[in-house]
Amino acid sequence: MSKPNPFETAQKQLDVCAKILNLDAGVHQMLRCPMRELHVSIPVKMDDGSTKVFQGFRVQYNDALGPTKGGIRFHPEETVDTVRALAAWMTWKTSLLDLPLGGGKGGVICNPKELSTGEQERLCRGYIDAIWQFIGPDKDVPAPDVYTTPQMMAWMMDEFSKLSGKNRFGVITGKPICVGGSWGRGDATARGGMFTIREAARELSIDMKTATVAIQGYGNAGCHASFLVQEMFGSKVVAISDSKGGIYNPAGLDIQAACGIKGETTSVVNTPNVQKISNEELLELDVDVLILAALENVVTAENAPRIKAKIVAELANGPTTPEADEILHKKGIHVIPDFLCNAGGVTVSYFEMVQNMSMYTWTLEDVYERLDVRMTNAYSKVLEASKRFGIDMRQAAYTVAVERVVEAMTSRGWV
Ligand code: NAD
Repeated sequence: MSKPNPFETAQKQLDVCAKILNLDAGVHQMLRCPMRELHVSIPVKMDDGSTKVFQGFRVQYNDALGPTKGGIRFHPEETVDTVRALAAWMTWKTSLLDLPLGGGKGGVICNPKELSTGEQERLCRGYIDAIWQFIGPDKDVPAPDVYTTPQMMAWMMDEFSKLSGKNRFGVITGKPICVGGSWGRGDATARGGMFTIREAARELSIDMKTATVAIQGYGNAGCHASFLVQEMFGSKVVAISDSKGGIYNPAGLDIQAACGIKGETTSVVNTPNVQKISNEELLELDVDVLILAALENVVTAENAPRIKAKIVAELANGPTTPEADEILHKKGIHVIPDFLCNAGGVTVSYFEMVQNMSMYTWTLEDVYERLDVRMTNAYSKVLEASKRFGIDMRQAAYTVAVERVVEAMTSRGWV
């Protein structure tokens, strides 16, 4: 079976929302396509003296609410449709979080693992040379994404600054702290997710102090989440997993030990004195909270009837298929949808822009406090819309986000 085209998926999701909101046909059409996109060819001098030309994209989906914002992906299988879909989802995410930003995304077809450090730097600078007149702190602000790093963001910011003739730290976020990065960016996605889990638990009257938690995926998002649920709520993490499999202890896992083993051996499955479980079994555990922090399409129509968690928190993008969504909703399982649950990252990226533009740096406590306010407000708006329209949390998140973009387009006289 061929993979679904992500941009068609994004358009279908919007179509459902357009019906709920009874959107005007012209407005709907405007939101179905990117506002503008740039396709570039980037010549890079390779270490062996040859020149290789890489294809890159930057899509600015909608800027009714402000400058577009979204990451840059370096991926061998990058397609413009993936970039378009992700730019659309960024538009809804920044809107939902009440940020004064639109949505965008960028990508370059390449495999950075096959490039030397020098080649990576020349590709980063070449990409900026190709798109620099198209971006800027008040136009479009990129950030790291799949296979791009804070070091790459520093090179890109430097190239843009050179071309502009002045320091422009605010052009890109996710930079190292010494060149305008923000405190709190490292665990922002997981921490933001925690605030939404706290609110969901309150709504469902679940005491997080005695709650059990299972986490699929033990990378950046999942690993931070495992420490934060313990630190912030005192919950018990009973299961974690990575691509090699999972571990389970109903009495609670020693997260510090599992994390150390993961560092030493690349997988949590080598942790001693715990029960081994598969990723499939982890999903079906009888826990209060299931955090999905690995891949897309892991909860499907096949396994959704066996999911027992009371709250499913989607730190990963797209972990639940539309068919599974319906099943979980009917079972009364509370899903915190991806573009709400994992919006902490872009929110702290926005804080980084604000600090760069005002030439003032915030403390870690400032960042946490402001992140809490944004995430909590967004969660309550989505919950309210879900109750008002009698729809699930994902559709509710869409309606809140799309309504705000439409309001801005209308106020600006575009439609
Ligand atoms: P990562 O690469 O650091 O970690 C991914 C983890 O998933 C790894 O532990 C890997 O072993 C595990 N994994 C891979 N295949 C698996 C499988 N079949 N079963 C179980 N585990 C498997 O990635 P990340 O940055 O933590 O991102 C995870 C998800 O969160 C992605 O969907 C990403 O788009 C989303 N997300 C991340 C951020 C962020 O700031 N890191 C922000 C927004 C969304």
